[in-house]
Amino acid sequence: MGPSTPIVRHYTIADFEIRGPLGKGNFGNVYMACHFIVALKVLFKSQIEKEGLEYQLRREIDIQAHLQRTHNILHLYNYFHDARRVYLILEYAPRGELYKELQNSHAFDEPRTATVMEELADALTYCHEKKVIHRNMKPEKLLLGLMGEVKMADFGWSVRKKMCGTLDYLPPEMIEGRIYNEKVDLWCLGVLCYELLVGNPPFESTSHSETYRHILKVDVRFPASIPLRAWDLISRLLRYQPSEQQPLAQVLKHPWVRAHSRRVLPPAAQMASLALSTPILL
Ligand code: AMP
Repeated sequence: MGPSTPIVRHYTIADFEIRGPLGKGNFGNVYMACHFIVALKVLFKSQIEKEGLEYQLRREIDIQAHLQRTHNILHLYNYFHDARRVYLILEYAPRGELYKELQNSHAFDEPRTATVMEELADALTYCHEKKVIHRNMKPEKLLLGLMGEVKMADFGWSVRKKMCGTLDYLPPEMIEGRIYNEKVDLWCLGVLCYELLVGNPPFESTSHSETYRHILKVDVRFPASIPLRAWDLISRLLRYQPSEQQPLAQVLKHPWVRAHSRRVLPPAAQMASLALSTPILL
């Protein structure tokens, strides 16, 4: 299948949960049916208050609510709260974490990796236009839609100041406490490309100090299995000086991405229905 061939989803009766009958017609019956499944993220207010994250959560909701144009960013449809909890109504990502699929297959092939690169470079272009930096594109934080398309989720890091979690994706400027900008996402894209093709991130090592050292020296070992043109792309993204990194527009045009990406855009009607179901008011 070529990159421009749209996949039209074929429905079966199993896609619908049939509820009570609504009426009888001349040629058949009409039923109430549930189809639109969402993911409901339930957060406890007490825990958020304990960690002092009220402001961050509001910002995270605000950011995600305003990033609704592309199907590679997980949609936040709306939110509500009661006395104890905050509920986020999110797009359901049926294939779960990218990390799990990576673990199962150990590494991805060139078409799958290049497709993820194109999807993320496009989604990041949109985020950066809106002045949002993602900062946390590791496989555990990327979800997958029905066709395996990437859904960028968890914009918590866009607002959190503290560095926590794995170091593997941190760029030199963040480690050194220098001023950083949206280029940190280009670094993450380079780390991710390597991890998808090889099966582990490029700076992984046995201790934090060793990982720091590798990152600051941009000490990347490329296994012989990495295709030359992918190696070229990764090394254009992993640069100590952010000003030397390849811009997102060039990632989208990179010969390796162009040769291997199998990105499929959803049918226009599906995008329109997503837009209609996004009644967020903040
Ligand atoms: P989180 O608290 O956002 O890190 O979510 C915890 C886990 O729940 C994720 O790692 C996913 O496995 C799952 N999950 C979160 N959001 C969704 C979603 N929208 N669709 C499907 N699974 C999700």
